[in-house]
Formats: sequence, structure tokens, C-alpha cells
Amino acid sequence: MGLNVIMLGAPGAGKGTQAERFARQRGLPKISTGDILRQGVKDQLPVALVAKAKMDRGELVDDETMVAIVRERLAQPDTDAGFVLDGFPRTVSQARSLDAIIEERGNGPLVVVDIVVPEEELVRRLAGRLVCSKCGTNAEPADGPGTTCRRCGGTLVQRADDSEQVVLERLGVHARTTKPLVDYYRGRPTFRTVNGAQPADRVARDLDATIDDAAGQGARAAPGLSER
Ligand code: AMP
Repeated sequence: MGLNVIMLGAPGAGKGTQAERFARQRGLPKISTGDILRQGVKDQLPVALVAKAKMDRGELVDDETMVAIVRERLAQPDTDAGFVLDGFPRTVSQARSLDAIIEERGNGPLVVVDIVVPEEELVRRLAGRLVCSKCGTNAEPADGPGTTCRRCGGTLVQRADDSEQVVLERLGVHARTTKPLVDYYRGRPTFRTVNGAQPADRVARDLDATIDDAAGQGARAAPGLSER
């Protein structure tokens, strides 16, 4: 049975960093829809170029495009042991489509973790967030602007959609469309929250324990899945 994880949380909650860390530790692919879109823009893919205007304004790309991207990615064999999704789903409609995809795969339930951080802390973090212009990796807060990426040596820059106005728009979008997702998932035995306003190592430790616990619950709640 696969370990299928989705990480929810506002922009700046640390989802991307934690998803990457958890995925690496467990040998699972980390699938970030934001990264797929940004890579698509670099590769000049028509679907990503259409999405770019929305991304630059901090608005959501349409559900149909996003579901198609995720459906195709989850059909790759490297997801057989599970995956960590970061940035998807962002709307209840995407969540419903993901449930249908998970059902078709028949390879274990979804574990849903919401990383919770107060809004003032989110704005503070987002305004100072840097990414590598070459490989897209998030920089640690301790790395100053203009320094180089630990992973590939590229230059660290502010993300195009992290300017103050766009940050506020993205937090607004999150409040309006993504928070209802938490209500959609809350009643499930595999839903968990983690306190994201702690040092990254403690968040990682909490995530590790909580995801294993939720996956165990999911297996007990749907015993037939493990036998398929
Ligand atoms: P992220 O890196 O996850 O913050 O995504 C950057 C931008 O890509 C978002 O602000 C959206 O414009 C777009 N995007 C990424 N994932 C999704 C999604 N699941 N639904 C809609 N838009 C998305």
C-alpha cells in the first residue's frame, strides 16, 4: 500500500520545505504543482504559458488544467510506493477530483496534513523568502540575498510572486478558496494538523510521527485497500 500524503497550509507555512524533506527521507517523489508550472514556463509549454499570467498575479490556475497535470504525474510509476503532494489540491473541486484519482489507483488512502501558522508570521516569512533562480530550491532564512544556492550554486532571488502586494493577494486567495479544503477533509480519520510556527526540525519531527499515525489509522479504516 502506498503512502499518499498531501500537505496543506498557507503560502509561507513551510509546506514546500517540509514536503521535500519528508519525501526525501521516505524515498517518495515530492510533487509540487507550482514547480511543475514554473518548469513548464521555462520549457515554454503552451499550457504553462497560459497559466503564467495568473501565477504572476497570485491567482489560481483553473481546476481543469491543474487536475490534468496531477492526473498525468500520478500515473508515473515512481508514485507506486506513494507520493507527497505540495500545492495541490487548492480548491474543493480539485480535492474531489483527487479523491477520484486515488480511488482509481486503489493504492492506499490519502493522508492529509495541515501545517498551521498564524497570519502575521506568514507575511513576515513571505516578504523575506528567497529561491534559487536556477533550480528553484527554497533558501534557508539564514542565507542572505545575493548569496548562492547550497544545492547548485545558482543565485538566490526573491520569488516573482512574493512581492508585498502579491503576497497579500495569495494569502487572500488561500483564505477564500483553500481554507474550505480543511473543512472538506477534517472529518476523516487520516486528517491531521501540525503546528508550523516552530523551528523547522520540530515541525519535521511532528510531521514524521503524525503521518505514520494517520497512515496506520487509514489502513485500519479501509482494510480492503492493503490487499489489492
Ligand atoms: P506555489 O509554488 O504552490 O505557491 O504555486 C505558485 C502558483 O502556481 C500559485 O500562486 C498558482 O497561481 C499556481 N498553482 C500552483 N498549484 C496550483 C493549484 N493546485 N491550483 C491552482 N493554481 C495553482
